[in-house]
Amino acid sequence: MAPTYKTVVLAKRPKDNIVPGETFRLVTNNPTPSAADLKDGEVLFETNYLSIDPAMRGWLNDTRSYIPPVKIGEVMRGGCIGTVEASKNPQFPVGSFATATAGWTEYKICRGNELQRVVVPRGGKLTDGLSVLGMTGLTAYFGIIDVGKVKAGDFVVVSGAAGATGSVVGQIAKLKGATVLGIAGSEDKCRWLKEELGFDDALNYKDRDFFKKFRAATKDLIDVYFDNVGGEILDMALSRAKKHARFVMCGGISQYNSSKPQGPKNYLMIVSMRIRMEGFIVFDYAKEYPRALRELAQWLSEGKIKRKETIVKGGLDQAENALRDLYQGVNTGKLLVEVKPIDDK
Ligand code: NDP
Repeated sequence: MAPTYKTVVLAKRPKDNIVPGETFRLVTNNPTPSAADLKDGEVLFETNYLSIDPAMRGWLNDTRSYIPPVKIGEVMRGGCIGTVEASKNPQFPVGSFATATAGWTEYKICRGNELQRVVVPRGGKLTDGLSVLGMTGLTAYFGIIDVGKVKAGDFVVVSGAAGATGSVVGQIAKLKGATVLGIAGSEDKCRWLKEELGFDDALNYKDRDFFKKFRAATKDLIDVYFDNVGGEILDMALSRAKKHARFVMCGGISQYNSSKPQGPKNYLMIVSMRIRMEGFIVFDYAKEYPRALRELAQWLSEGKIKRKETIVKGGLDQAENALRDLYQGVNTGKLLVEVKPIDDK
C-alpha cells in the first residue's frame, strides 16, 4: 500500500472559541509525495515543527484583513520549519533545513521561492528560525524600534510579555537603555522576565491586586506601550500614558476569540495626552528583514537576547489543542508543535 501522510484542514469557522473536533479536521492523504513528483526548482518539504500563532484565530474569520481567510476545506495556514527530503533545486540540497508557510501538513511540495534557508548562528538552534530569528523576533524588532522609536530613558510597558514577541520586545528595549515593565499571566512567567531576561519589573495581570500594583508601578507614566493583548490592560495603559506617549499596536489577543471585539474605553486619553497610537504588520518591513535578522542573530550569539520554547509533542493531531491552549497562556516564549523531531535539540 502507498504511504499516507496527514494534513489538518479547516472544517467549520468558529463563532467565538475554537471547538475541538469541529473547527478542524485531520485528513489522511494518499499517496505521500516523492522525489518522482518534483518539477525543476521544487523540493519535497517534510515538516518538523509548526509555529502556533495568535493571529491564526483571525485567519479563520471570513472578514477583510491584512491576509485572506483560510478557506473551508483548505489546509490550515501556518509557518513551519522542516527538512528538504528530495530536491530539484540546487539552493536547497537534500537534508538542509528551511522555513516555509507550508501549513498544517506533514509533507508539501514547495517552490524555492516559498522557502527560506535556515542559518543557525553561534549559540542558536534550528527552531529559532520560527521565533527570535523568525516572525515573532522580527515583529518585536520593528515594533519597538521603528514604530515605538524606543530610546534610552524611556519607560516601556509590554503586555503579553512572556510570549514569543513580548519577551524579545522587552529585551530589545533594555538593550536600548529603557526601563521595562512586563505584564504576563502567572507568577512564574513574571519571575522569568525579571530574573532571567532582566526586565526591571513584571506584574501578573491575574493577581487580584493587579490594578493597584499597575498604578503604583506606572507612577512615572508610560513613554512607550507595546500592546499584544488589547482589552482592559490597554485601557489601563491609556490611563497612565505620558504626554506624547507612543502606543505600538501589535495585537489584541484578549479579543481574538470574541465575535464582538471591544475597543478601548479610555480612548479620549489619546486626545488629551496627544498619544500616537500606530498599528503595524511585520510584513510591511520585509525588505528590511536581513538587517534585523543580522542584529537579532548577533544579540542571540552574545547572550544579550534569551528565549524559551514551549513544545507540544504528539504530531499534527495536537495542533488544534495547542492553538486553543495558546489563548489560555500555556506557553512561555514560543509555542511550537513537534511533528517530527530534529536531532539538534
Ligand atoms: P505569544 O507567544 O505572546 O502567546 C500569546 C500569549 O498571550 C499567551 O502566552 C498568553 O500569556 C497571552 N494571552 C492569552 N490570552 C490573553 C488575554 N486574554 N489577556 C492577556 N494575555 C493573554 O504569541 P506571539 O508572540 O506570537 O504574539 C503576541 C502578539 O503579537 C499577538 O497579539 C499577535 O497577534 C501579535 N503579532 C502581531 C504581528 C504583527 O505583524 N502585528 C506579528 C506577530 C504577532 P499569559 O499567560 O501572559 O496570558
